Amino acid sequence: MAKKIVDPKKPGAIVKMPPKTAPVAPTLSESPTPTRLAPKSSPAKSERPAATPPPARAEGPAATPAPARNEKPATSPVAAMAEKTAATHTAAMTGEPAARPKRAMSEEPATKPASVKVEETATKPDPVQAEEPATKPDPVQAEEPAPKPVPVKSEETSATPPPLTIDTSELLATAPALDLTGMPESAPAPPVEVPPEVQPPAPEREEEEPESVHILEPYPEQPDTSQAPSPSVYHGPSLYIVQITPEMAPVAKVGGLGDVVFGLTRELAIRGNHVEIILPKYDNLRYDHIFELHVAFQDLWVPWYEGAIHCTVYFGFVHDRKCFFIEPHSPDNFFNRGAIYGFNDDLLRYAFFSRAAMEFLFKAGKHPDIIHCHDWQTALVPVFLYEIYQHLGMTHPRVCLTIHNFKHQGVTGQELLRATGLGRPEHFFDYSRLRDNHNPHALNLLKGGIVYANFTTTVSPRYAFETRDGGQGFGLEPTLHTHHLKYGGVVNGIDYDVWNPEVDRYLPVRFGLDTLDGKYDNKRALRHRFMLADNAKPIVAFIGRLDPQKGLELVRHAIFYCLEHGAQFVLLGSSPDARINADFWGLKQMLNDSPDCHLEIGYDEELSHLIYAGADLLLVPSQFEPCGLTQLIALRYGTIPVVRAVGGLADTVFDKDYSHRPLHERNGYVFENYDHPGLESALGRAIACYYHHPDHFRELMKNAMRSDYSWNVPGIDYLNIYNYIRDK
Ligand code: ADP
Repeated sequence: MAKKIVDPKKPGAIVKMPPKTAPVAPTLSESPTPTRLAPKSSPAKSERPAATPPPARAEGPAATPAPARNEKPATSPVAAMAEKTAATHTAAMTGEPAARPKRAMSEEPATKPASVKVEETATKPDPVQAEEPATKPDPVQAEEPAPKPVPVKSEETSATPPPLTIDTSELLATAPALDLTGMPESAPAPPVEVPPEVQPPAPEREEEEPESVHILEPYPEQPDTSQAPSPSVYHGPSLYIVQITPEMAPVAKVGGLGDVVFGLTRELAIRGNHVEIILPKYDNLRYDHIFELHVAFQDLWVPWYEGAIHCTVYFGFVHDRKCFFIEPHSPDNFFNRGAIYGFNDDLLRYAFFSRAAMEFLFKAGKHPDIIHCHDWQTALVPVFLYEIYQHLGMTHPRVCLTIHNFKHQGVTGQELLRATGLGRPEHFFDYSRLRDNHNPHALNLLKGGIVYANFTTTVSPRYAFETRDGGQGFGLEPTLHTHHLKYGGVVNGIDYDVWNPEVDRYLPVRFGLDTLDGKYDNKRALRHRFMLADNAKPIVAFIGRLDPQKGLELVRHAIFYCLEHGAQFVLLGSSPDARINADFWGLKQMLNDSPDCHLEIGYDEELSHLIYAGADLLLVPSQFEPCGLTQLIALRYGTIPVVRAVGGLADTVFDKDYSHRPLHERNGYVFENYDHPGLESALGRAIACYYHHPDHFRELMKNAMRSDYSWNVPGIDYLNIYNYIRDK
């Protein structure tokens, strides 16, 4: 008899578990012996169910399937960079026809050749003039002459808020020189020219409710776009770039920031630039990834309060990247705590690191063209440069700040000014400088970074828009408006040396576009590892921090939805918050006997590779998502993302049924509303497609794998930004 599982968080939500003895497909019936100590009560081998797949819903879920609205934005004068990132990343598709599996896999039902006929909405650019709301202008505004306002793009056919994008070549051509050499010491910055009033985003276009979750149109022959030239080019000189960062994978990684620094620095280096990275010398660095570590600078004295802290600077290679590690010797023990974040004095720790990094550059006589810093942790770098080091002769470098998440801003009190030697509270507690927009008694480091940096980026054009105009700026909206001319979004890439199923050393079987069936060996290995039933069901995965930002309530709902609708679910995640962890441990225990579900609470890089490779679908139902890397990795592994249309997810995943993109660029399932019907609208369609249109599903996998989300295009975008600010 089918077992019923009640989600205790949802009293009404009783879901019916599929029979414990899960169906077994003939070709996969030789499931390896489970290794887990507490085996599932049913090893899922005994019965062969009816040949028809488990209950995929033929009808649409209760709610209106949310239309995808991530279609290519209209072209606008300051748009090309993000346009490239959003559009060309997915542009290089070859028109390869669906290949048949070499053998009959239970996951891959036989496919039928697809026919043509696509309905493409005719689209027309609908540029929206850049807008500036009537917010109090921030008087510092980095002495920026007011160049041509940055137009904001609107979406082609709908009024979905356009992503804020940047085109440095346009800026270069049109903007007057940006002189930041004399950041305001005493002289006030010229007033900011206030661009025209904001046009509120037009109401969202109502999409017709589709009748069912069935695929609307079969796939057509795909055009061969492999010869399409990349629109991204960089014609500037080689640059000397220093990254000052709290994280870099794999030696010090907490989240996506670490991956970004690792991937971007390599891309910049292979394009002929000299790149150095400065990190704290944490005691928990992955020293096994650091080569030739040696002392590079013996006695670095970093001003701190009324005295100075003695530091040693080490140099080492991390997979060919040139890294400096700063080790302070003080009773504060800033970086010897066994963890990267999570301490009461985190603000002081990273303020110290930022000051130490600048002091090191200064004392070592380094004059990079560009200093690139990241998030609130190093947002004081441009403040130090323009308030202290410039006056000591460090006039050459320009600073790019990248904000990976606006939720964390580094809000602190006056003490910081005393500690870092910045002093002058009356100067910094100015609204136009570091004073927090909400708390007049607090300093906001991220705000300071935006005010003082020569350019600020965030990690997707959509998130750039959302933070400035979509209420996602966590209070920094007025600051972003004031500095909008030096703000934009660049979609992250992923490192295809690390995330590549063709060479991935963590996979039992490697695979690629031409050897797609290898994916199913990984699927089997994943099931073996988690002791899941070897059956005909798709595997839906979630990988990520268990943070409310990631849509945990929807993740929880998705688990039960999948179990009820003929899918398996695996989760890999952890949280620093004990209550959240405990919650998921409870869920894990509750579902422990299910042959179709496994929750792995913890952080495991190697395991994540197997999940990306073995799963069929990857769920990313975030409340907000600056860029998101998991969906980009999933795409590379032919795992179809099911995402909420926010931030970078909206810029990189294009709905199979509702996107206005050409069919060969569609690569996943997208929903709008952060609620159960929204989630079900996309997940239901994905599961239905897996069962009822396997040929379409396979095409979707190929589209996903052909998408180019390497660092190639974003690397050029960053170089264009660097080059733009270099001589200003
Ligand atoms: P965020 O930066 O908000 O954490 P991203 O999607 O940008 O989210 O990046 C997350 C990165 O961390 C991805 O590379 C993902 O694979 C990895 N990751 C997250 N959680 C885990 C985990 N529990 N085990 C292994 N890798 C994880």
